[in-house]
Order: sequence, then structure tokens, then C-alpha cells
Amino acid sequence: MSEPIFRRILLKLSGEALMGDLPYGADPERIAAIARQVKFVADRGVEIAIVIGGGNIYRGLRGAAEGMDRATGDYMGMLATVLNALALQDALEKLGAVTRVQSAITISEVAEPYIRRRAMRHLEKGRIVIFAAGTGNPFFTTDTAAALRALEIHAEAILMGKNGVDGVYSADPQEDPDARFIEEITHQEAIEQRLAVMDSTALSLCMDNTLPIHVFNMDDERNIDRVVSGERVGTVVRSG
Ligand code: UDP
Repeated sequence: MSEPIFRRILLKLSGEALMGDLPYGADPERIAAIARQVKFVADRGVEIAIVIGGGNIYRGLRGAAEGMDRATGDYMGMLATVLNALALQDALEKLGAVTRVQSAITISEVAEPYIRRRAMRHLEKGRIVIFAAGTGNPFFTTDTAAALRALEIHAEAILMGKNGVDGVYSADPQEDPDARFIEEITHQEAIEQRLAVMDSTALSLCMDNTLPIHVFNMDDERNIDRVVSGERVGTVVRSG
């Protein structure tokens, strides 16, 4: 097995990654499979921070959120990410991994508050840190949280796990039969071509700070280890 090419990574998982075949919510089997792979990579000596989304739970609440103040709906979304973070933490700890959840919204009974230096210390000690509640601000996404936290903790790359898609395409492959798979692209090109890497705020942040993004299919969770091993998997977005 080749040496990991990264010492510290930030893994972005959308809430949907936890759904498996369910219409919404979280599938314990799926969470366990992801946890096994995360632990496997952590045991190889890679420091791992995770930003988790909330789409899987939030989707079930969409109806209730309709007509609601945007900020209120967004806070509900952030709370949904906390539920996912706790589920993932539990699955990781069942495997014997040491983890900490840090939340951008204070919920002191269930998670540490986000404290950058503390998060970095956890990582140095080999603990897996899960960042919950996104950036803590409405009008943002967990993609932006991933970019922000990755930069703050000096992660060498963002690993962006997608569901049901192998990486970045020139168009939506489900709608356009001519959609072309892109192996490598610059941040600038991805922004200009409005490609579905992450939202534009998050992508700009990565571009301005030359942070590479590896976009890959999370349906096969072993892809995390492949990326970390330097294998050619999915799409790499990096500065030209
Ligand atoms: N959210 C937010 N600020 C943040 C992160 C998330 O307001 O910094 C809200 C927003 O409403 C978003 C929801 O939380 O739609 C769930 O996050 P996201 O859609 O990014 O999750 P994913 O699609 O990755 O599962």
C-alpha cells in the first residue's frame, strides 16, 4: 500500500451520503460503512476533519419550512447537520475511533463549541473531528463551511464525496447525453463554467487560497482511501 499523500484532510459529506436507499433520513448500514472507511484512513496516520451536511433530514422538513423566514429555515438546516454529526460520531466510536464533534452553534450538552486551536490539537492527537452546524450562519452552506474549516485547520485538500456521480462533468450527465467527464480543472474554470463542484462562495474561497478539491463518488466509500493514496479517482480541482 502506498504512503498517504496527505497528512491532514477535510472530508465533506453531504447529508445525502448517509441516506443509502432511503427517501430521507439516515441509514445505519450506510453510516457504518462510511465510518469504517474513515477509521481505516485515520489508522493510516491521516488526520481527518469532517464537515457534514443536513440535506437528508432537511429534505423531510422542506414542507414545514415552506414560506418560513429564510434564516429560520437555515437554522433548522444547521441543526439537521448536528443530528448527522452525532450519528456519525456514534458509528465511529463503535469502531473504537476517538472523535470530537465541534458545533458552530452552541449546544454545550452535546458538542464542543467550535474552537479552531482546540480542533487542531484534537487532530494532532489523532482524533477525528466532526464539524457540525455549518458555518453557524444562515445564507451559507456546508460546502462553504468545508472550505472555511479546511483553510482554518490547514488541511491540504478537501475531499468532496458526491452521491451517484463520479466527479465533475461538463453538464449534468443525467440530462445531457453529451456530458463529458472532467479529470482535472482549475477553480477559475469551474466557476466560469458554473460546474457542479460546490457552491460558488465555497469555490471562490478555495480558489483565493489555492486549496485543491478532490471530487469523487461516495457510493463507493473506499474512494476516500484511494484519493488519500494518490490514485486517480474522480476530478481534481486545483489552481492552474
Ligand atoms: N446551512 C446554513 N449555514 C451553513 C450551513 C448550512 O444556513 O453554514 C443550512 C442551509 O439551510 C442548508 C442546510 O443547512 O440548506 C443543510 O446544509 P447543506 O444543504 O449544505 O447540506 P448538504 O446538501 O451537504 O447535505
